[in-house]
Amino acid sequence: MSLEKIDPEISIAIEREAERQRGTLVMIASENYVSREIIDVQASVLTNKYAEGYPGARYYGGCEYVDVIENLAIDRAKQVFNAEYANVQPHSGTQANMAIYFGFLNPGDTILSMDMTHGGHLSHGSSSNFSGKLYKAFFYGVDNETYLLDFNQIESQAKSHRPKLIVAGASSYPRTIDYKKFKDIAEDVGAYLLVDMAHIAGLVAADLHPSPVPYADFVTGTTHKTLRGPRGGFILAKKKYSKIIDSQVFPGTQGGPLMHVIAAKAVAFREAMSQEFKEYQKQVIGNAKTLAEELSKHGLKIVTDGTDNHLILVDLSNTGLTGIEAEEILGKAGIVLNKNVIPFDGKGPKVTSGIRLGTPALTTRGMKEREMKRIAEWIISVLESPHNSEVLGDIKSMVHSLCRQFPLV
Ligand code: PLP
Repeated sequence: MSLEKIDPEISIAIEREAERQRGTLVMIASENYVSREIIDVQASVLTNKYAEGYPGARYYGGCEYVDVIENLAIDRAKQVFNAEYANVQPHSGTQANMAIYFGFLNPGDTILSMDMTHGGHLSHGSSSNFSGKLYKAFFYGVDNETYLLDFNQIESQAKSHRPKLIVAGASSYPRTIDYKKFKDIAEDVGAYLLVDMAHIAGLVAADLHPSPVPYADFVTGTTHKTLRGPRGGFILAKKKYSKIIDSQVFPGTQGGPLMHVIAAKAVAFREAMSQEFKEYQKQVIGNAKTLAEELSKHGLKIVTDGTDNHLILVDLSNTGLTGIEAEEILGKAGIVLNKNVIPFDGKGPKVTSGIRLGTPALTTRGMKEREMKRIAEWIISVLESPHNSEVLGDIKSMVHSLCRQFPLV
């Protein structure tokens, strides 16, 4: 029997969500559209299987085929990122970070990471997250003029706080991160270095952002952002840390692995090895650069004056709009993105003075520079006429027709 008949409420909500994804411009920097194969694998019978443990050492019978799958996922992750060791079981990026903290820190230990208001992530020591409750977190930020990572500040903070772990990586930093500099500082103060490359994992896989793997003790990531795989996390590290990390993912912080997701991760890693994937990532960056240039030409302030990666941070302070207002109005025109704090933002995370835009999802649809230029014009028109329902309506219908020209597979 079909889902429509058995559970119409869920069936209708899924169909509406599919329609929303098809008919709007998804510009949330951490979102993407996975391939049909990845959707199919996640919807497979693998969801039925318990497999606590690791390949060859499970706590359940009947694991011979899921062992093949997890080994493939591990081998491919290692190959894509040229890593000595990989763990593909973390259910999310936050879980991946948790396993590292649990493995190498004790409660009360000191960590040094990027301030969330400057682009860092919740799981890097925010007081509202377990990481800020269990560990003593200090934060570094960006320079107050260039808005680039301030390595003098990072070094002096590291020297004064003597952290056991330094975390590099961000959720809304539009520029290349110099991991060698982080490693030198970490080495200097005897700290471990964790690089969280959740946002840029796809760019790293395609060699379009320097890899943290040679420099970091541990690298964590998510498979669902630029990497264009299923929702989930993974960990890479030097081989010498493998036992500790494995035991902190399971049984330390998780139970049974999600084998349907791990299989989909394996497919995503395989896709990431293709030439098509490399071309895709190049276009992601090209599109983000074009978008930044066009928005800036029309008078919007772009944090750091541009981007090196898949995302752009816009400072709205000269528009008279807050981030939350811009998110809402653009949403009415079918342009979906998120409000975001900008460095030194006086407004706080619920209101914000900025918006974050990303190109991974639009690029998956096949959009290129030409479309970015049109979209930039629409964004400007909406921000200039936030209360003009005619303008919003016109743009919404142009958004719909652009979406129809670039259908999802
Ligand atoms: N790390 C960074 C830098 C992120 O940007 C994110 C998510 O946005 C995460 C970790 C967490 O990933 P998840 O939502 O899978 O826990």
